[in-house]
Amino acid sequence: MKVVHVAFECAPIYKTGGLGDVVGSLPKELVKRGIDTFIILPRYEWIKRPPTIPNSHIPVHYVTSRWFAKPNLHHDPQIQAPKYAHFAIQALEELKRQNIRPDIIHCHDWHTALVPFLLKNRPDSFFEHTKTLLTIHNIAYQGNFSVSFLNHPETKIVTDLLPSQQKRISFLKEGIVNADFISTVSPHHAREIRTGRVGFGLTQVIRKKRGKFVGIVNGIDYNIWNPKRDRRIKTRYSVKSIARKTENKLALQQKLGLEVNQSIPLFGFIARLSSQKGIDLLLPLLDEVPQRRMQVVILGTGDRKYHKLLHKYLKPIIRSWISMNFAFDEKLAHQIYAGADFFLIPSHYEPCGLTQMIAMVYGTIPVAAKVGGLKDTIETGKTGFLFSPVTIDNFTQTVRQALHSWVDQEAHFKMVRHAMRKNFSWRRSARQYAKLYQRIHHEV
Ligand code: ADP
Repeated sequence: MKVVHVAFECAPIYKTGGLGDVVGSLPKELVKRGIDTFIILPRYEWIKRPPTIPNSHIPVHYVTSRWFAKPNLHHDPQIQAPKYAHFAIQALEELKRQNIRPDIIHCHDWHTALVPFLLKNRPDSFFEHTKTLLTIHNIAYQGNFSVSFLNHPETKIVTDLLPSQQKRISFLKEGIVNADFISTVSPHHAREIRTGRVGFGLTQVIRKKRGKFVGIVNGIDYNIWNPKRDRRIKTRYSVKSIARKTENKLALQQKLGLEVNQSIPLFGFIARLSSQKGIDLLLPLLDEVPQRRMQVVILGTGDRKYHKLLHKYLKPIIRSWISMNFAFDEKLAHQIYAGADFFLIPSHYEPCGLTQMIAMVYGTIPVAAKVGGLKDTIETGKTGFLFSPVTIDNFTQTVRQALHSWVDQEAHFKMVRHAMRKNFSWRRSARQYAKLYQRIHHEV
């Protein structure tokens, strides 16, 4: 079985969020199952481009386009549309150039969703036996553009395939309609999409794929996220030496200028600063932080609006309680997972979420919205705290519950042990993907 992953991110080569983690780790497990795996990425000028995923033999092919040269124009739709369309075209060309005939092309998110569209609408004997799987990592991002943005010689192939009167194009919708199979990144999120709780306008389109849509929960890469071996944290620890986790907490408090005090419960929050992540729920909590005698460490970058709203908590009087870090900082992320006692995830929706799994592996108890993959991976009262529906009151109430549980340290560490013993490795998910590839290959 030959599988090619086409994606815009692949950690550690290039990562802006969870998608990068997935594309960087899943292939390593697939290879262990005997699946011949390749990656296709854009040839961004400003990144290092190793020939394989580091610490593996998985080949990475980079495709070139003039549209990949300018990182600062990432969000301009007039650039995005031809950039991603050209990537899809070039990815298929690259496979032909390299004479790679995949059984499955596994596409990730809207960025690569025109691959199934091209294969279905422009049949090519080279890909006669190739099937496509499109994984939706975040359905809110769909790549909706005016077709006129694709009026370039490099992307003419796409416009030629569209009806002449068509004015708008949704890359994700085209991918969903044309892929042989689609998936998302947790069973509960698949249900949310089907029932329309989270659909962002695509529920009807997805319902038509009856029997060809599943949810497979992501895993995490234990070579990267492992308190036993993590070189980025102050003191390594395991479930058998949990007491040493405290050294990480004290080091984190010290590093960030918080009051260094083991007994103050420390809450972490690491996320893209976007409306999805529930910052509207986090803000009212922050107002209560000093009187509740808790500490909060925030690490995130994203929407300017949220940078501005969070900026006010940089006030000196609040600095020993709240640490605000506007950066993308992998090292600090590791130190927060290891040093915090609790981890806040008030997301309005969360297709899978990786941060809750990473937090649990580090013995940091998630306080999370009962949505998507958070519901599938956290056992409330045992490995974390879930709240539903997603409202400010429910969130603050659940944080209070977590604070209450902190008082009983024995009970708290029982939860910590449960959380640390959970297995979130990619192995199980890779097995499910391998089965799915077989099914698509033989049945669809
Ligand atoms: P999403 O894919 O929606 O961004 P996930 O929970 O699936 O959310 O994955 C987020 C990943 O990105 C995690 O590995 C998290 O640690 C990392 N991350 C998010 N923001 C930052 C940041 N500011 N600095 C370092 N890592 C971050």
